[in-house]
Amino acid sequence: MRLVIHKGASEVGGNCVQLISEGKSIFLDAGVPLEELEDKDKKPDLIDFSKIKASNKSTILGILLSHAHQDHFLSLKNAGDIPIFTGEPSYGMLKVLKDFSMDGNVPLENVATFKDGEKFNIGPFTITPILVDHSIYDAHAFYITDGASSVLYTGDIRFHGRKKHMMEKVFDRFASPDILLVEGTNILETGDEAIYKDENSLEEPMTEFMNKTKGLSLVVCSSMNIDRVVTVFKAGLKAKRELIIDLYTAEILRAVGNDKIPNTSWPNVHLYLNGYHRSIVKRNGFFDMVKGHGSGRLFEEEINKNRSKYVLLYKKSHYKFLEKNNLLDDSSMIYSIWEGYLEKEKSLNDLLDFYKIPFKFIHISGHMYKKNLVSLVEKLKPKAIIPIHTNNKEMFREFENALLLDNGEEYEVQGNYKSP
Ligand SMILES: [Zn+2]
Ligand SMILES: [Zn+2]
Repeated sequence: MRLVIHKGASEVGGNCVQLISEGKSIFLDAGVPLEELEDKDKKPDLIDFSKIKASNKSTILGILLSHAHQDHFLSLKNAGDIPIFTGEPSYGMLKVLKDFSMDGNVPLENVATFKDGEKFNIGPFTITPILVDHSIYDAHAFYITDGASSVLYTGDIRFHGRKKHMMEKVFDRFASPDILLVEGTNILETGDEAIYKDENSLEEPMTEFMNKTKGLSLVVCSSMNIDRVVTVFKAGLKAKRELIIDLYTAEILRAVGNDKIPNTSWPNVHLYLNGYHRSIVKRNGFFDMVKGHGSGRLFEEEINKNRSKYVLLYKKSHYKFLEKNNLLDDSSMIYSIWEGYLEKEKSLNDLLDFYKIPFKFIHISGHMYKKNLVSLVEKLKPKAIIPIHTNNKEMFREFENALLLDNGEEYEVQGNYKSP
């Protein structure tokens, strides 16, 4: 099989890898690099599938989506009628993103879903999706073979989340792949320097900070990072605070379809519909959607009366409405996403400055560290290692079998395939 990284070889995100065998091809992810996503002045440069099809003369049979982060899916906008394969919860989350116009119009008419560990075939390729830990629900690695050679693609991955024990054995069945196509976001960090050692260890400092707060406790985190939503929920319980979420988050939690995860049918999880979402509901007729979350809905007056009883997942769209209803008095904020986003969030910085809101950064990365990579390589003994999703692929040279590809460079995978 031949392998081409179209995007992601020398940047964080944007992953798009083509595997070609017998004139047929599949893609692993179809994203847009993080740097392009953050540049609001420029339109992202999406993958052009018809151009690729013409240039390497292969029939495109499908695109495998490892997880529902934009840096992996946004180029699906150009997928046309190419079938998309992803996990059921990821499909659910993509539909919610579409409902709330947050996805750049990815076509979802042609999506087939797969399950962790269940092999399936697309043309000459046999694919095993492998559920892994990452800062989003339902992230997968893929083991792919065409019967002659094999590729293990990690997607985005970490070993310190809520699934960390599961992660110790996750690739046991997939040792000695011909290629380990591995993410290298945090290749410069050993992991020993991290302030918090795993997802669980965020809980206590969050509780402590909430306990010091007299008013509403605000937490900024990604709604699709369900590990983190659970952390906030649990920290809140310990601080005797019930969770308040917005309509978008409520829908994400519903879409993953796991009743062990906090959702609005729980007595201590509440929906607050801010004015921005009220107008979306009216415009799109989402009345049944709201009704579905209705039992624990909270209005401004109730929140205001009992500000110390709640922790609110803060969204940009809340700002105006929290301010208008005096909900920010005595509040505090926990920032639980990548620190780099903060400097770009003008409205958030204004709010913090103006209300002199106590602020604490409590976060752990969604990506593995170098020590995880070293043990992964020791364990799997891949024939070759190809880095992706990294600004520092040169750092991989310390592995003697590293193979540094550039975007667009085609590589013939040397096969030594053995059935796992
Ligand atoms: Zn990514
Ligand atoms: Zn990701």
